Amino acid sequence: VTPESVLLTAKLAPLRQQLVDLHGVLDRSGLVAWTSGNISTRVPGEDLMIIKASGVPYQDLNSQAMVVTDLKGEVLAGSLRPSSDTATHAYIYRHMPDVGGVVHTHSSFATAWAARGEAIPCVLTMIADEFGGDVPCGPFAPIGDESIGAGIVETLNNSRARAVLMKSHGPFVVGPTPAAALKTAVLLEEIAKTVHLARQLGVVERIDQGAIDSLHQRYQCEYGQRS
Ligand SMILES: [Zn+2]
Repeated sequence: VTPESVLLTAKLAPLRQQLVDLHGVLDRSGLVAWTSGNISTRVPGEDLMIIKASGVPYQDLNSQAMVVTDLKGEVLAGSLRPSSDTATHAYIYRHMPDVGGVVHTHSSFATAWAARGEAIPCVLTMIADEFGGDVPCGPFAPIGDESIGAGIVETLNNSRARAVLMKSHGPFVVGPTPAAALKTAVLLEEIAKTVHLARQLGVVERIDQGAIDSLHQRYQCEYGQRS
């Protein structure tokens, strides 16, 4: 044990606890079933990330189940195996330097759109606000290699949305922080459900692009309390 590793462990402790808390929110939000879904956080200032351990039930999650890896997915701290989606999260952090948190779920309504390989059209002001346009669908990719990360990054780079529906799989959501990505994941499930319901009533109409642009601009810059 070196002084550096003691310092790093101390720096990681609050991030690991925050990740435990966010997984609690994810579980209570109804977006995940059994052990599915995961959240990761980039470690600011280090080429490291922290992600949920593989296969641990949500009620049993604690700091020890938040596994520290490098950005190749190699484990640095923690006795458990990291999520099977670790390579995908790591790929996103390596290729999107502004991303500080990643959330992955198989939430029912968003995943239903993914099953159809269909983007969620921007037919509501809340979609324009949060996503800046359609929520795109990414390519089908096998789990276990880098093709899923590559498909996510390529799709996100061609979209204003911070979320992508990977075809026949489910949503991956990014944000400046894991908390921000989790909020977007919750809103994604909400709009996936609402647009699905709207389509049962009839044809839905996409909002005019100029209106989408101004809604998105206003929400991103002016919404909320001034600090
Ligand atoms: Zn998955």
